[in-house]
Amino acid sequence: MAPSGSRSDDCWRVLYWVPVLFISLIVAWSYYAYVVQLCIETIENMGEKIVYLLVYHILFIMFVWSYWQTIFTKPMNPLKEFHLSHSDKELLDREDRRESQQEILRRIAKDLPIYTRTMSGAIRYCERCLLLKPDRCHHCSACDMCILKMDHHCPWVNNCVGFANYKFFMLFLAYSLLYCLFVTATDLLYFIQFWTNGLPDTQAKFHIMFLFFAASTFSVSLAFLFAYHCWLVCKNRSTLEAFRAPEFQHGPDKNGFSLGTSKNFRQVFGDEKKYWLLPVFSSLGDGCSFPTCLVNPDPEQPSLPPGCNPSIKSAEESHQFPPKPLRESQSRLLNNGQSEGSEDRDKQGTSNPALTIEKET
Ligand SMILES: [Zn+2]
Ligand SMILES: [Zn+2]
Repeated sequence: MAPSGSRSDDCWRVLYWVPVLFISLIVAWSYYAYVVQLCIETIENMGEKIVYLLVYHILFIMFVWSYWQTIFTKPMNPLKEFHLSHSDKELLDREDRRESQQEILRRIAKDLPIYTRTMSGAIRYCERCLLLKPDRCHHCSACDMCILKMDHHCPWVNNCVGFANYKFFMLFLAYSLLYCLFVTATDLLYFIQFWTNGLPDTQAKFHIMFLFFAASTFSVSLAFLFAYHCWLVCKNRSTLEAFRAPEFQHGPDKNGFSLGTSKNFRQVFGDEKKYWLLPVFSSLGDGCSFPTCLVNPDPEQPSLPPGCNPSIKSAEESHQFPPKPLRESQSRLLNNGQSEGSEDRDKQGTSNPALTIEKET
C-alpha cells in the first residue's frame, strides 16, 4: 500500500466523513420520530404498537449492522505474489523503454492467474502500489490503494465497495429499502390523518409528516439502486465493468466473469443459505482471481468477439499466459456451471464458437 499522505490530506479525510455523519443523523432522527413520536406518543392500539416496534427494531438492527460493516470493512490487500519484489522493482526502474518494462511485467505475470489487460493489451500494473493488478482490481485515488474487485468508491460509506464488502453493501441496500418501505407503509395512515386534522395538535404530527416524506423519497432512490445492483450480481459485473467491459486476450467481454445467475449470486453471497441474509463475510474466492472463460486464440476461426484484434493478441503472448490452476472455491464455481454460464452467454448473443472453456486438469 502507498504511504499515507500529509497533514492537509488528513484534514481532507475528516471531511470525507460528512456524508456518513449526515446519513447517521437522519437515521437517528428517524428512530426518534418513529419510536417515540409515532409509536409511543401517537399510536393508541397496544397490539399495533407492539407489532410495529418489533418489526421496526429487527429492520433497524439489520440495516445499521450492514451499514456498519460496509463502512468499516477494510479493503483486502492483494495477495503477496501480486506485489513486485525489491529486485523486480529495481529491474523495472532501470528500464526506460515501455516495451522492456512490459517484458519484465509479462515475465512476472506468467505464473499469476491474470487474464485481463489494459485496453492497449498491456499488463495492468499499479505504479503507486507496485503491484500487478489482479483481474477486476482497480486503484482508488480516494482510498489511495488497489481495491480487489472494485465496484465503486461510495462517499455515503466513505469506503470503497469491492470484494471485501460487496455483500454487506447489497444487504445495506436491501435492509435500508425494507426499512424505508416499512416506515412509509406504517406511517401512511397517520400521514393522511395529519392532512385531515385527525392528529392531536402536538409536535408529533410534524415528525410524522417529515418521516413520511423522507422515507418515501429514500424508498424510491434505494429501489432503483438496489434493482441495478441485483442485475449486476446476476450478471457478475461490477459497476466499473458495466461501464467498460474488462479486456481479455480475445478482446473486451462484459460477460467474461459470468458463470450463470445462480453461481454469480453464490460468488457474492456464498454457498451457505444461513449466511445470505446476515452481514457476515461469506463471498467465495480470494478476490484476486475469478473463474472465467479461458480463451484458446485460434487464427483459423473466422469470427472473433468485438474488439479482438488477432494481429495484436499473438499466440506468443497467450503462451506467456497459460491457464493457471484455480483455487478450490473457484473450481467449485466452475464445475457443473459451465453449461449454465454458456447458456447465459448465448442468450446475450456475445458467445463465440471460437471460444472454448478450458476445464481444470
Ligand atoms: Zn494501486
Ligand atoms: Zn476508494
